[in-house]
Amino acid sequence: MINYLYQEQNWKTQLSDLITDPKELLQQLELSTDQLLSGAILASEQFKLRVPRAFVAKMNVGDALDPLLLQVLPHHLELEDHPEFVTDPLGEKEANQLPGVLHKYQSRFLLTLTGACAVHCRYCFRRHFPYQENLPKNNDWDNIRDYIEQNPQINEIILSGGDPLTLTNAKLELWIKRLESVPQVKFLRIHTRVPIVTPSRIDDEFITLLKNCRLQCIVVVHSNHAKELDPYTIDQLKNLTKHQITVLNQAVFLKGVNDCAEILADLSYRLFEANVMPYYLHVLDKVKGAQHFDLDSAQINQIYTELLAKLPGYLVPKLVREIAGEKNKTPLYGETF
Ligand code: SF4
Repeated sequence: MINYLYQEQNWKTQLSDLITDPKELLQQLELSTDQLLSGAILASEQFKLRVPRAFVAKMNVGDALDPLLLQVLPHHLELEDHPEFVTDPLGEKEANQLPGVLHKYQSRFLLTLTGACAVHCRYCFRRHFPYQENLPKNNDWDNIRDYIEQNPQINEIILSGGDPLTLTNAKLELWIKRLESVPQVKFLRIHTRVPIVTPSRIDDEFITLLKNCRLQCIVVVHSNHAKELDPYTIDQLKNLTKHQITVLNQAVFLKGVNDCAEILADLSYRLFEANVMPYYLHVLDKVKGAQHFDLDSAQINQIYTELLAKLPGYLVPKLVREIAGEKNKTPLYGETF
């Protein structure tokens, strides 16, 4: 019944009515552990709780260890200091060439058009990123265009975030048209978690926008657990692939959420049901506040070895780590890292 409501309700209404109070979230799930609440309130002061009700509807009522809840509920362990866990683990400030432009790899760069996300994932490597100082304004486009033209190896732009699908279709269209007008740009990639947490965001207008785009479009969603992919979410993702839009998934290896080969195999099979190909499985970026999600390399290798044995090759996501300053994501397996 609850899920049915979220299918009917406009996505803009849903994104304007997020749960931001840890107490409300715990009440919705009939969880009232005092300890859970005080830790959540403290940590939420540093990185606010944000979660769409459509995502909460996929969580198990009464389960304090629900893998979807663990990804969004602030935790007192976030407040601990660990020297290895820092505010900018990927050195993104170095890659920030212009407002909104993060250029790390040869043929492509990230364009961050918004600092807003529909959900705040507690492990996010950009949780400390100063978005407000870095968003491109309308009159920055000329500089961005010049930057692309001065770097002829660039053929792909990645809309990233924040989450680009928190923007209206009109705003997305404005930027997509700008990018289309640069002949050397061939590919448009959109990195987003919104279709997983608010699936109704994949509306007809958005699909038409991508269908009519000169650029080859790739949507990379972010799902970490098969429970995130209920039948409605699967249908919505299929609506993209029906129109020849490539959809890939990246996941993050998270202690307590998906640190088991069985869970990761279920995720791959569920993604495939939605015509989505598993792309990356990221080792956690060492961002301050996310240390309680970290797994050691021996655990990761063991789980990944089991995963390789369980899945056909085409459903195995590449195990990678992003290392600041490297020219590509670093493949990992069988190493101590
Ligand atoms: S949606 Fe993506 S960018 Fe936003 S908080 Fe989650 S991981 Fe970070």
